[in-house]
Amino acid sequence: MFLRIGRSSRAVLLCRCSAASGLCVPKATRNVNLTAPKRRELSYHPNEVFLFRTCSTSQAKLNCWNCKHLLDNVPAFFCNSCKVIQPPEEGASYFKILDCDYTFSLDTQKLQKRYLELQRSLHPDNYSQRSVREREFSESQSALVNRAYRTLLKPLSRGLYMLQLEGMHLEEGTDSAADPAFLMQLMEINEAVDEAKTPEEAEKIGRDTRGKLTDLTEQIDAALHRGELHAAKALLVQMKYYTNIEEKVKEKLSEFM
Ligand code: ZN
Repeated sequence: MFLRIGRSSRAVLLCRCSAASGLCVPKATRNVNLTAPKRRELSYHPNEVFLFRTCSTSQAKLNCWNCKHLLDNVPAFFCNSCKVIQPPEEGASYFKILDCDYTFSLDTQKLQKRYLELQRSLHPDNYSQRSVREREFSESQSALVNRAYRTLLKPLSRGLYMLQLEGMHLEEGTDSAADPAFLMQLMEINEAVDEAKTPEEAEKIGRDTRGKLTDLTEQIDAALHRGELHAAKALLVQMKYYTNIEEKVKEKLSEFM
């Protein structure tokens, strides 16, 4: 048996064979209250291997901290039985948290709707009269949902996050990854924004940039679908530059007002 520490003080026993494949289908689940010393003691037990959040959380079953009822969904925000708020499932992907398809071209209207629904039910203001534990869970759940929403809303951060989920990391500062000819072209567009004399000139650059961003979105989506992570990364670097130009155009337009 594998033991997976699902949440801070509880553990779930998992089947060895399925855990090896990364899909934790529990053979048996039970609540175990693990204090720190107990956890250490367990982790030294020679006949058991302990996995700390290394498995996919999508399949692991957890129990409600309040009534012990088995939670139906992962991540579960509330218990279906007693309706009490649950602790955040930090390992869950932002796509799961916001119940979105795992795709770069996700439906941002659906994303926003789900975000607003969750924030309404998780907001700390709703828990001011509840126990300390519930207040803490509401604060951490609410913060997690905010983080997930901010990351998935913008294509650039969404794409970078998807690469991260696929095991690829973009270093701080991605300049080295950009092609010199591309950088030269971007420099020219930047200059054109600086030198724009009328709102129409700036708007034209803004339109071209948005068109370019739309093309890039399609190309990145296709690259991710094909599993071409390096190509997707290179396109995301381009997207980063065009996003900066889009911001610059907005600033320029505000100067004309
Ligand atoms: Zn419950």
